[in-house]
Amino acid sequence: VWGALVGAGVITVLKQWLQDILPKLFGSAGHYEVIVFGLMMIIVLHRARDGLWPLLARLVPVRAEPKQIDPKAEPLPRKAQPPHGETILEAREVTRKFGGLVANNAMSLSVKAGEILALIGPNGAGKSTMFNQLSGVDTPTSGEVLFRGKSVAGHSSREIAALGMSRTFQHVRLLPKMSVLENVAIGAHMRGSRGVLPAAWRLDRADEARLLREAAIQVERVGLGEFMHTEAGSLALGQQRILEIARALCSDPCLLLLDEPAAGLRLKEKQALSELLRRLKSEGMAVLIVEHDMDFVMNLVDRVVVMEFGEKIAEGLPEEVQQDPAVLEAYLGGV
Ligand code: ADP
Ligand code: MG
Repeated sequence: VWGALVGAGVITVLKQWLQDILPKLFGSAGHYEVIVFGLMMIIVLHRARDGLWPLLARLVPVRAEPKQIDPKAEPLPRKAQPPHGETILEAREVTRKFGGLVANNAMSLSVKAGEILALIGPNGAGKSTMFNQLSGVDTPTSGEVLFRGKSVAGHSSREIAALGMSRTFQHVRLLPKMSVLENVAIGAHMRGSRGVLPAAWRLDRADEARLLREAAIQVERVGLGEFMHTEAGSLALGQQRILEIARALCSDPCLLLLDEPAAGLRLKEKQALSELLRRLKSEGMAVLIVEHDMDFVMNLVDRVVVMEFGEKIAEGLPEEVQQDPAVLEAYLGGV
C-alpha cells in the first residue's frame, strides 16, 4: 500500500516537473513531456519489473527478517475427519470430451477415508483430465462427482478445497523467491478470517501469526523443518514436491489428490515421498495418486484403477492388477 501511494506521488510530481522544465529547454511547440514520460515508463517496465524499491534495496545491504513463528499463536480450528472406511469421493460415469476427443469415457471410481488409491495408465490416458473433473478445476461433459455426499458440480475449486479436498499439480507450482514457510502458509489462506483491506493495512497480524504457525506445523509434519526459512526455489525437486504436499495439507484436508508426485525424482527421493504418504495414511488421510512408475505404486497403495484411452480397463488390488492381461497389454504392448 505504501509503495503504491509513494509511487503515485512520485509520478504526479514528476509529470508536473517535466511539464515545467521541458518547454524551457525545447520550446513549447511539441508535447515533449508525454514523450519523455513514456520513455521513462518503458525503461522502468523493462529494467525494473518488480518496481524501483528492489533496485534501491539492493544498494542497502539489509536483509528482510524471516517471518517469525509465534508458538503462542492460537491454533486454527480443525474440521471433523470422516470415519475410517467411509466413501468420501465418488465419480459416477464421468465423461469429458474435448471436441471429438473423448479424454474420459464413463469413468467411475471411489475413494474411502484412510486409503491410498492409485490412478495409473500410459501417457495421454486421461489421468490428469480425470483429476480436473474430480477437483472441480474442470466440469464433466456428463456424469457426476460426489465429495462427502455433495455434488462437486457448480462449486468452485476453492469451495471444494474448503470442504476438505486438496490437490497438487503435475508440474511444480511454487513462488521460488519466497521461503518454504511462506509458500506453505499460502495453502492456509482460506482458513484466515481477515479480508484484503485489513491485510493491506497490516491489521491482520494476529491472523497471520495463526496461519504461519499452522504452516510451520505442516512443514515439520512432512519433515522439511530444517528448510523452514530457505528460498523454495533453491530446494531439490524432491523437496519441492514435498513442500507442495505440505501446502496442500495446510487447508486441513481429508483427501489429497497428487498428480505424478514421483515424476523426475531420484530413488532416495521417491522413498522419502513414499514414507511420507504412508505416514499420512496412518493418520487417517485418504490419498488419490496419479503415477506411472509401477514399482513406486505397487508397494504403496491399497487399490489401483488403470486407465487407457480415457477408459477404465482394470481395478483391484495391486497384485491382481499386475497380472491383468489388459493391463499388461496397455503397458507392454502385449505379452
Ligand atoms: P494423462 O494425464 O493421463 O497423461 P491427460 O489427461 O493429460 O493424460 O490427457 C488426455 C488426453 O486429453 C490427451 O490426448 C490430451 O491431449 C487431451 N487433453 C487434455 N486436456 C485437454 C484440453 N484442455 N483440450 C484438448 N485436449 C486435451
Ligand atoms: Mg497427466
